[in-house]
Amino acid sequence: MEKLFYKDQYIKNFTANILEIKEIDKKFHIYLDKTAFFPGGGGQFCDLGEIDGNKVFNVYEEDGKIYHVLDIKPKDSLVKCSIDWDRREDGMHQHFAQHVLSGCFYTKYKANTTGIHIGKDFSTVDIKGYLEEDQIRNIEIYANEVIRQNIPLTILTPSKEELDNIYLRRDLPNTDEEIRIVKIGDLDINACCGVHPKSTGELRLIKIKRWEKNRQSTRIEFLSGKRAIDDVLRRDIYLTKACKYLKSKEEDLLKAINNLEEKIDKVIKDRKKLENIVSKYEEKELIESGKLINDIIVISKIYENEDIRYISKLVNKITEEHKNIVLLIGNDSKEKVNLVFASSKDLKDLNMNSLIKKVLPVVNGKGGGSSNLAQGAGSNNENLDEAIKLAIKIIKN
Ligand SMILES: [Zn+2]
Repeated sequence: MEKLFYKDQYIKNFTANILEIKEIDKKFHIYLDKTAFFPGGGGQFCDLGEIDGNKVFNVYEEDGKIYHVLDIKPKDSLVKCSIDWDRREDGMHQHFAQHVLSGCFYTKYKANTTGIHIGKDFSTVDIKGYLEEDQIRNIEIYANEVIRQNIPLTILTPSKEELDNIYLRRDLPNTDEEIRIVKIGDLDINACCGVHPKSTGELRLIKIKRWEKNRQSTRIEFLSGKRAIDDVLRRDIYLTKACKYLKSKEEDLLKAINNLEEKIDKVIKDRKKLENIVSKYEEKELIESGKLINDIIVISKIYENEDIRYISKLVNKITEEHKNIVLLIGNDSKEKVNLVFASSKDLKDLNMNSLIKKVLPVVNGKGGGSSNLAQGAGSNNENLDEAIKLAIKIIKN
């Protein structure tokens, strides 16, 4: 079988003869006399595409034969084949970008690659040791300089004897097959079975997204080619929007966010101060509005869109400082109602938990609590008045 992808990595369409068809689980595994479908390897994913107008779901190599998996059996033995080029090009770019990054880390810091992963959304390369941010940023600049220089890729297929005299970044795979050596100028030389672009310029951009410690290595997440370009363009839109929103230049954006945070902190502090003052008046007003029912002061109030945190604070304060008090608070907020029933500790006969449980069905709600404090939330905000009236009726009886 002729491996066309090694002869010319840019073949997108070709015609081939079917030599063998294996039927496995109602799928047809097709072996051709030649193929441009790369079966995957070196961390790179396999090609997909079409054969005879039918979708190729998987491509794999077994005992030196490359099989193409189809749902439908081709009618003729001579078939037209096409590669899903977007997928292949993307795969080549991410894979080759990893070569470039590994080469850069090794050249600059003598740091070897300990692992690679080419993912659907992003890819990673693990570099031995723990790297600092400035080292990683330096490599990003260096890798993009390598792209700018458009260094051609050389593929060597040396004999076993010649191989002994070539220094490689990593150990050779243990195989009897011909070993392909990928050389990127003086940057990197390594054995690899993948398919690669013809020069570094094709990558257009390598963008390091983030990094983290991973065992004894630093795991570096990166994008290249169209993925990197798309990412930068998308981020630029966000950045422009953020700058416009904060009325800031790009370089002053962090400062603008800091200023905003400081302003918010101050507003929160001021609000707390005011809240304490207002709550004293509110407390007084609430106590005065209470009605005496069976020697108990019963206070009821419905708030609209009040901060539930503020209500809870008020309720706690009143029930702690006053005796024989029951508070029935309703809070009508967006698509939701909240009920807070509370009583002072000296009231033993009235149980807030059982009271709220009798009332909550009126507002289509659920909740509960202790004998002195119970809370609930419901979805029917038209019956809030009725709920409070029901609670008062139960207390009266
Ligand atoms: Zn490779």
